Amino acid sequence: MRLVMLGLPGAGKGTQGELLAQRLGIPRISTGDMFRAVLKSDSDLGRRVKAYVERGELVPDHLTVALVEQRLAQADARAGFVLDGFPRTVPQAQALDEKLLEAGRPLHAAIYINVPQEVAIRRIASRRVCSQCGATYSQEQVAADGSCPACGGPLVQRPDDSDETARHRLQVYLAQTHPVVEYYRQAGVLIEVDGQRAIPEVLGDILAALSARQQDVEASGGR
Ligand SMILES: [Zn+2]
Repeated sequence: MRLVMLGLPGAGKGTQGELLAQRLGIPRISTGDMFRAVLKSDSDLGRRVKAYVERGELVPDHLTVALVEQRLAQADARAGFVLDGFPRTVPQAQALDEKLLEAGRPLHAAIYINVPQEVAIRRIASRRVCSQCGATYSQEQVAADGSCPACGGPLVQRPDDSDETARHRLQVYLAQTHPVVEYYRQAGVLIEVDGQRAIPEVLGDILAALSARQQDVEASGGR
């Protein structure tokens, strides 16, 4: 199954992407992890990406697309993938579609986890990260003494997660990334789920929608 995760920051994309990947036995591919890996590598692409990052500039679409394409061509992604953090813009979505079609492996679905903006801001602002092991928690998951449930380390708020930066990230998202939702809706591959339900329920909704869609496609003799 070839999937893309979409939703506001704080909607639960990362969590659901990981659960889906485990359930379907395919890798979750996050652009954050991919960038970190390529920056450590000694590849030509890595050097080109590094040049932008070091200058504090945005990595241009064609490089990001090349990076994603290279990653999707690896053996573990042959049976499918869950992409998280990409595409971020409509041109990136178009480029991804083009590459996947060329390879004869079009996207099965783009999964949009819908939460209201205020809920997203509240979730981001309540997020805490362990300064020892790096695990991330929502406020409800944190132990009463404010330590990391996994390693007991101290939990802190990332500067990126303050209320103010959360609002800024949301604005950027709405301007650049939200149009991607409409792009996939028009392409007829969008699955929209209510992200305010509990984590297992959201996962159940996604899996049910995927299997309904798969049956439709099989009934119509499609891919
Ligand atoms: Zn920890």
